[in-house]
Amino acid sequence: MTNRSNTPSKSEALFGTARGLLPGGVSRNTVYREPNPDYIASAQGCVVTDVDGRTRIDFANNMGSLIHGHATPQIVSAVTKQLEKGTAVTLATEPELNLAKLICQRVPCFEKIRFMNSGTEAVMAAIKAARAITGRPAVAKAEGTYHGTYDYAEISQNAEPKNWGPIDAPNPVPVACGTPPNVLSDVVVFPFNDLNRTLNLLKQNADNLACILIDLVPQRAGLITACSDYISALREWATKHEVLLIFDEVITFRMELAGASQWYDVEPDLTTLGKIIGGGFPVGALAGRHEFMSALDPSHPDFKFPWSGTFSANPVTMTAGEIAMKMYDQDSVSHINALGQYARDSLNEAIGELDVSASVTGAGSMFRIHPKPVRPTDYRSTWQNEQEQRKTKALADHLYQQGFMTFRTCTAALSTVMTQAEIDQFVTAARSGMSALWR
Ligand code: PMP
Repeated sequence: MTNRSNTPSKSEALFGTARGLLPGGVSRNTVYREPNPDYIASAQGCVVTDVDGRTRIDFANNMGSLIHGHATPQIVSAVTKQLEKGTAVTLATEPELNLAKLICQRVPCFEKIRFMNSGTEAVMAAIKAARAITGRPAVAKAEGTYHGTYDYAEISQNAEPKNWGPIDAPNPVPVACGTPPNVLSDVVVFPFNDLNRTLNLLKQNADNLACILIDLVPQRAGLITACSDYISALREWATKHEVLLIFDEVITFRMELAGASQWYDVEPDLTTLGKIIGGGFPVGALAGRHEFMSALDPSHPDFKFPWSGTFSANPVTMTAGEIAMKMYDQDSVSHINALGQYARDSLNEAIGELDVSASVTGAGSMFRIHPKPVRPTDYRSTWQNEQEQRKTKALADHLYQQGFMTFRTCTAALSTVMTQAEIDQFVTAARSGMSALWR
């Protein structure tokens, strides 16, 4: 929102200070906005209030991490009590057991879990564990998927037509300048949901592969659900070649009580978690069968992979996570998924009535609006040219002006405190935006 008076808004003034202190004035690029990001004074439930007193309904929920919205009273109260007892010690604490029990009870193949501080760390740990276990270096991942910022996991997340290469053998495209060439040679990029091409690429690289890393509903690659046959075939191939199958459920764990893996007949070898399991605090986790997790066990003969982390499993995060996950019971999952379906249906209805060039993807409590007449099916059909990128930015900005926060891709991740009323308001704003900006 541009401030038209000569006096800078509080957010503008704060951003002026921030520019002198932080690169780009921000601590994470996700929040960067022109002319300035708004600074948040407080957030409660699904409403966020900025320092200039404007309120917005939060459809982003800190990139899908706040499953119950902001300042959940039960979490605030439990965490406050824990704060008085200490925040991090160089020994174990009981809250980590409570959260570990809760999460492991939900998913049969989670026999052991190791907590860390972010999804990026969880993915890095999974890849390093897979290398330690198999003795092979390479990672296979789907083109366009975001798995955090570990070198090997981020390859090709922003691939473009000018560098992505043939669909039969997509190029490994670096994200950061200076990515070492051997990182590129140890990442195999495959087209998501494209079984034959994926299997061909896996076959060609079988001798070198430690793991297949896959997000079952990858947001950046289109928020499209992986097909059952595809995942079953990956499982079969991975087992046959003793390559580890890793599900990245950092964002999709919200999809069902046992995460999105509940939709499939197969078990991964390792799973990465993050976001909602921290109840609003920084978190990551690696979980799986004892057979694989013993690689992290310093007392086990199979110990191959040391892993620590100063703030790993700190009792504040663990306490918040325990309350958040207890509250995220089957009723909550059903409620939020029904809201997601309602949102997707309402948006599709609006698109049909307006007759605009747009489509909606998503699953469970997430949806994404694309400036494309046909629903994308993979990363390449999700990829937006300059005109489409402008349209997406214009719609996200319009929604923001109208009082709704989303991801910059026009993706939403709902929270359990929301109701149909917030969805209806959102769809009205999306409708006016698409009608004015997407013709
Ligand atoms: N994997 C997936 C699928 C993610 O969505 C994210 C974060 N958006 C990450 C990994 C990285 O998590 P974090 O930001 O906590 O490092």
